[in-house]
Amino acid sequence: MMRKDQLRAIRNDLPMKLTVTRLGPHGPFGKEHDGYFRFQCPHCGQLQATVNPVNNLAHCFCCSKNINNIDLMMLCGHDFVPAVTILGRWLEEYQSDLGQTKTSASAR
Ligand SMILES: [Zn+2]
Repeated sequence: MMRKDQLRAIRNDLPMKLTVTRLGPHGPFGKEHDGYFRFQCPHCGQLQATVNPVNNLAHCFCCSKNINNIDLMMLCGHDFVPAVTILGRWLEEYQSDLGQTKTSASAR
C-alpha cells in the first residue's frame, strides 16, 4: 500500500521533466523553453503545460488544468497503482543519481 508521504515524494521530488523524458514516445512531447520545461498538455493537446519549478506542478496556460506526475501517468493510460510504482522507482533512481541518501519518505 502506498503511503501518503511516498505519494507526496513522487509528486514533489521527482522532476516532471524526468517523467516526460522517461515516458519517451509513450508520453507527451516536451521541451525546455526560457528555463521552463513545457510539454504537450494531455487534456487539450497544446504545448502549454509548463512546470512550475517551485512546486513541480504543471499548469496548462491553454485549458488551465494542473497536472502532476501521477496525473500524467494516468492520462498516459496507466492505472493508479502501476503509475505510482513506476514513479517510485524513477524517484529512487533519480535520488541515487544525485548521490543522495534515501529521503525520510522512502526510509523505513
Ligand atoms: Zn491544456
